[in-house]
Amino acid sequence: MTTDSSRATVRIAAPAKINLSLFVGPVRESDGRHELVTVFQPLDLLDEIVAEQDATLTADVVECVGVEGPNLAADALAAYRAETGWDGAPIRLTITKRIPVAGGMAGGSADAAAALRVAAAFAADPDRDRLEAIARPLGADVPSQVHGRRATGLGAGETLRRSAARPDWEAVVLPVDAQLSAGAVYAEADRLVDPRTDEEIRDLRVAVLQAERSIGVEQAGLAINDLQTAARRLCPEIDAAISLLQQHGAEHAMVSGSGPTVVGLFAPGTATAVQAAISVERPAIFALPESRHTLEPPRWP
Ligand code: ATP
Repeated sequence: MTTDSSRATVRIAAPAKINLSLFVGPVRESDGRHELVTVFQPLDLLDEIVAEQDATLTADVVECVGVEGPNLAADALAAYRAETGWDGAPIRLTITKRIPVAGGMAGGSADAAAALRVAAAFAADPDRDRLEAIARPLGADVPSQVHGRRATGLGAGETLRRSAARPDWEAVVLPVDAQLSAGAVYAEADRLVDPRTDEEIRDLRVAVLQAERSIGVEQAGLAINDLQTAARRLCPEIDAAISLLQQHGAEHAMVSGSGPTVVGLFAPGTATAVQAAISVERPAIFALPESRHTLEPPRWP
């Protein structure tokens, strides 16, 4: 994040995430969300956000071309003000989307997390733990993106354990020309199969946390997405994208989150050539794992 105090302008990057593992357990009674064991991995595929404080505005404003209707980043600003009582001058957020919308890469959550970091920057508030608490009601993917680091998500994904594993791959992301709502994919998954039992989820929690303390889930045979079958049924175009990545030698080719975006993991030094080859026939994005964390400085001008 860079802050230009004379213009009270902040530029910030909001990274997409993939779920390297996504194991789905029973629905919790407390809030109807599924119990998960998941590994969030941010990528350097970034929405770009410019934030300005503007005393001539009467309220915060979010501009986000390509996203109709209420914006999660606006909810985040409102939540920050409500929870902290901060009443600094109104903020204008201008979001340039790079992350596929409704693609299973948590772009809305990334923007919401970035909006919280922006508000905290303007309020000179260093308390990241409080930010994570404000993030929780905004959505299960938002807290992990406040920190923007690889982490294991427990509960419904909102309880985070920092990972020590360091990714050793490069990604090729294939947007699929469709939008899937996470709710619809979970409903389809519930219809297709029983969720994993409490006992399975307990065992997977142990296995994933152990892998994330060392080699990482990709190396431990745990790069599995329980939502993949449901997403493929709702969006058959996913199959062609997975096959294409496999044909190009992906070590793993999987649906990202609830889809339909598909991501392939490739050996270091090989993915740019794959991205170039696939780009001849369809959009493909080269992305590195965001392992240096680096919400600051932003990596765009
Ligand atoms: P989810 O898993 O929550 O469905 P996703 O990762 O598949 O999310 P998002 O790009 O976060 O997809 O968008 C989900 C929906 O959230 C969109 O259909 C959009 O209308 C709404 N939304 C609100 N704010 C944003 C935002 N800043 N960026 C993208 N979508 C947003």
